[in-house]
Amino acid sequence: MKRTAIDRRTQKLAWASGLPWKVAKARVQALAAHQPLIAEASRDQAVLECHFLHALARPRCTTLHPWGIRSVAASTSRLVVTFETVQSNRGEGDDETTVLGLMRAVLPLGGDSGDVYGIAGARLRVEDGTVVLRRFGLNAAIQLDGFAPHAVQAAAMRVADEARQDGMAPCQQESPERWHACEREYMRRGTTDWYETLMATSAWLPSGLLRRAPLLRAVGIPLSTTAWTDADPYGPGELWKVDQEHFEPQAGSGVSHHRPFIAMLTDPECGMPLALEHEACRCATGRCDDCRVYLRSHGRPGRLEMRFTRRADFYLERAQSTVFEFERRRRLYRRLPATFR
Ligand SMILES: [Zn+2]
Repeated sequence: MKRTAIDRRTQKLAWASGLPWKVAKARVQALAAHQPLIAEASRDQAVLECHFLHALARPRCTTLHPWGIRSVAASTSRLVVTFETVQSNRGEGDDETTVLGLMRAVLPLGGDSGDVYGIAGARLRVEDGTVVLRRFGLNAAIQLDGFAPHAVQAAAMRVADEARQDGMAPCQQESPERWHACEREYMRRGTTDWYETLMATSAWLPSGLLRRAPLLRAVGIPLSTTAWTDADPYGPGELWKVDQEHFEPQAGSGVSHHRPFIAMLTDPECGMPLALEHEACRCATGRCDDCRVYLRSHGRPGRLEMRFTRRADFYLERAQSTVFEFERRRRLYRRLPATFR
């Protein structure tokens, strides 16, 4: 247990944000003693982060960190996301990289059927030497760190070239300053479209998850992270489902490392306003199995289902024989103590 309140709060922030100790400590020292460690997003910022996590939820290439995110620095109307840059990341093609996968996920491409792939209305710009994602109509910004701006621009150019070859319109290149003709329908939808409204209603939830993505490293040795949504059957907003596939070194011993994770995710100082609804835990069985935890907020729309998919040794033997980089994953694992208050 850390000795001072500052150190104790720094440890929590470092676990949840992935920020280096010194950076986390400086942020904690700048806060009042009872201020939350991770700022909540403004409504506009939460909506942008909701679209961003939707785009990121199913990574297009293998990543070491959950969703490829090393660390996150959150403020009310801005989020700085530092991505991993790992040469060995591979997706569908041999030269698929994290940055290329990210560009494919977020850059809006207009298809001839009237659909837009990526985040309609989103634009990337280099501002003060950093790459920033914004969306028309929202006072919000996501700064994409970890990549050199020229690497991002090269990846964006490649995505645009490939889109043109496929008969799609790269909205960013063709209309950098305003909505592209392909996107106009999305612009008009605004808050009148049921799906946009659905997303915006519970945007605080994916925003809160994104702001704590590095905490997923505490579940077990991270293997892959995916998320998807349904409409919440019990109320307005979305039901977010997150599947954290991991290796648990002590599987079968009855140790449930998802419990400290959930405790941190709902911690008053660094967590989200979520309460446990139901837990289906199979840790004690030791089988290649999963545990599920269902959470909701009292007073806010939206719901969260966390799936903790535990992989057993036979799977790892195969994984270790490939470029899966198991040892690097092992080093990412952050084991939380059972109590940390
Ligand atoms: Zn369990």
